[in-house]
Amino acid sequence: MLRLDGAVVAQTRQIQLGKDIEAFKAKHGKAPGLAVVLVGADPASQVYVRNKVRTCESLGMRSFRFDLPQSASEADLLAKVEDLNRDPDVHGVLVQLPLPGHIDEEKVLETIQPTKDPDGLTYENLGLLWGGRKRVAPCTPWGVMAILEHYRIPVAGRRAVVVGRSNIVGKPMAQLLLDADATVTICHSKTKDLRATTRDGDIVVVAVGKERFLGGDAFREGAVVIDVGMHRPESGPFAGRLCGDVRYEELDGHVAAATPVPKGVGPMTIQMLMENTLRLATLLEG
Ligand code: NAP
Repeated sequence: MLRLDGAVVAQTRQIQLGKDIEAFKAKHGKAPGLAVVLVGADPASQVYVRNKVRTCESLGMRSFRFDLPQSASEADLLAKVEDLNRDPDVHGVLVQLPLPGHIDEEKVLETIQPTKDPDGLTYENLGLLWGGRKRVAPCTPWGVMAILEHYRIPVAGRRAVVVGRSNIVGKPMAQLLLDADATVTICHSKTKDLRATTRDGDIVVVAVGKERFLGGDAFREGAVVIDVGMHRPESGPFAGRLCGDVRYEELDGHVAAATPVPKGVGPMTIQMLMENTLRLATLLEG
């Protein structure tokens, strides 16, 4: 079984991205800028934000980090997003999710100017993706497509099955696979006989959000399995360790290729965020 290593794909793409950022700076006399807003002190979110800021800076982009207290009001956050929308040095505005319960996530996302939305999650950007006029695609499914491309896994004409239909992963994943000419099936919690459907897939993307949910019997021989899940269970054999939605160890000798967790899809999400920021900066600066 071929191990599809997202860390290797991300490192490879970073070399080209670093060159593209240097070319942008030479042309425009400034660096692409990404602003990240964090509300509260959720430990996992703090790690994600720190990694985004660090990657941004290591690539020569400008990063702007804003930490708002857990008690910040929705109005405070919207005002911050509007400030960043107007700031000519900021090309991408990212509000780290999840937000505290008293803040309406949809309202915040929709306040981000779509031309500065590197997560690709505003309705305008999702609509452009659906309409075949992609500006930027959501980072995680876009990262999955980059893994398939890196390992030269053919997509056109193949049967792709996506498990999950969230706006962040499942639905844009299905659209990207469709754009690449796969025949796509989307599964969700009401799908009857899930395994019969996943076993039909040449490429199966699992984004179900349930730790170690699918094992080897869910996939046909020779399938390509992409595990988007990301969990750190508090108890059980994987306590304190990262694991995915798939029982990776059951796949060997059965499927053709699969992404592990960690070092599968995870590193690609941040890489595609950086690529999306440069793309938006290029579109904004002309
Ligand atoms: P989500 O919003 O919770 O969506 C989960 C989807 O799985 C839903 O569409 C749900 O169906 C479906 N589902 C739940 N139980 C099912 C079942 N028994 N059979 C079939 N489908 C079922 O999760 P998400 O945001 O898409 O994220 C999915 C996973 O990816 C999570 O583990 C998350 O941590 C991970 N993730 C990783 C990255 C990364 O960088 N690697 C980025 C984003 C997310 P319904 O719609 O019917 O409820």
